[in-house]
Amino acid sequence: MRTAVVVGAGIAGLAAAGALARDGWQVTLLESGERIAASPTALVLWPNGRRALQALDPDGGWSAIASPLPDGGVRRPDGQWLAAPRARPGAGPAPAVVHLEDLYDALVAGLGDRVDIRTGIAVTGVRTGGVQRPSVTDGRSRFEADLLVAADGIDSRVRRALAPEAAAVGSGFAAWQAVIPGYRVPDLPADQAAGGETLGAGYRFVSMPLGGRAAGRGGVYWVATAAGAPRPESPATQLELLRRWFANWHAPVGALLAATRPEDLVPQEVRELRPLPRAYGFRAGPGGVVLLGDAAHAMPHHLGQGACLAFEDAATLRALVAETQPGSALCAAVEEYDRARRPRTTSVVRQSRRMSAVVQARGRLALRARNAALGSLRPRILGHAHDLTADWQPPE
Ligand SMILES: Cc1cc2nc3c(=O)[nH]c(=O)nc-3n(C[C@H](O)[C@H](O)[C@H](O)COP(=O)(O)OP(=O)(O)OC[C@H]3O[C@@H](n4cnc5c(N)ncnc54)[C@H](O)[C@@H]3O)c2cc1C
Repeated sequence: MRTAVVVGAGIAGLAAAGALARDGWQVTLLESGERIAASPTALVLWPNGRRALQALDPDGGWSAIASPLPDGGVRRPDGQWLAAPRARPGAGPAPAVVHLEDLYDALVAGLGDRVDIRTGIAVTGVRTGGVQRPSVTDGRSRFEADLLVAADGIDSRVRRALAPEAAAVGSGFAAWQAVIPGYRVPDLPADQAAGGETLGAGYRFVSMPLGGRAAGRGGVYWVATAAGAPRPESPATQLELLRRWFANWHAPVGALLAATRPEDLVPQEVRELRPLPRAYGFRAGPGGVVLLGDAAHAMPHHLGQGACLAFEDAATLRALVAETQPGSALCAAVEEYDRARRPRTTSVVRQSRRMSAVVQARGRLALRARNAALGSLRPRILGHAHDLTADWQPPE
């Protein structure tokens, strides 16, 4: 039987493990955490992510947990439009927002009883080379397989062994996310409840409604970004800082921060891989090793593409190995995965870094230039990003 070891049970690993198992692979899923757990946040599924999920599991019930993302423009902190809302171009599945816990629940359900899940296993070593099957170890046990899928996030141990040139570096931002229950902000007028994006000098605030069609866990999701290092203070103090930084921003920013409790707050440093790995696929024995998700292409979150690309990775891998047997065919599929995924993800990472520079503008001159240009610049960047993502189709 064809065997795969998937390292990491984040969304990339869960998506890949489920898809491989449904295609008849014997899959072992290794996760360093004591349990598979999502943080209490949310994310946007753009058309490419939605198409990839559908290709991975047509019965996944993805629409049932996703709420439509309202068309949002960009404002200044005083509420003036920098770029007015406009209908998103193109056909295909509409962008949607989903609670991360709902997404994890659906992906875990997709594992069925066919995946051997081992939690509390932190991979520390990787072995490739020669005719042996690739393998990983946690220092106590060794797990070998025809195909090794590295989905262990930005600090991937597997990637560090195979592509040490790719370094995880800070993007110059800290981010705070929270989902607050709708009952804590019951009086938001419809236009404020629809959320949107606001850009200040080195600060950004984005909010969106969740569970708009009673889908999944409801509430309001917001993400705030500030240029600079992550804060060392307690969540309560960080929340106070956020309220101060975003004081006097247009409604509903203040109301959302006032309704947030310290225990809702998910702070993190925004990091990315620079440079990207020189390869995403490495032949080994009768198959090889592939890098998926943030292990391959972690990027700043401003275009909301990290998870969507992870689902593209998994859908591409699935298509390439669905019928493939270990040996020269599987080795060739590993190399084809690299050819299919590296140029594509490199383009999206480049767009995401450009957007990062727009958000990061701080000095008075830089801000004036950014604001003047934003009306045309942002739609252009987003338009390009939209083309890159809306046109993506899962491989046959
Ligand atoms: C503020 C913010 C907002 C974002 N918004 C969006 C959005 O709207 N849309 C979007 O598409 N993306 C978004 N993203 C990006 C998205 O969250 C990530 O790209 C995605 O979660 C990466 O998933 P992953 O499975 O590759 O990695 P991870 O989620 O990091 O999962 C890796 C897993 O591997 C495990 N692991 C790590 N090391 C080991 C080891 N040695 N052995 C075994 N297991 C290990 C970890 O415990 C973890 O479970 C956002 C990111 C941020 C920071």
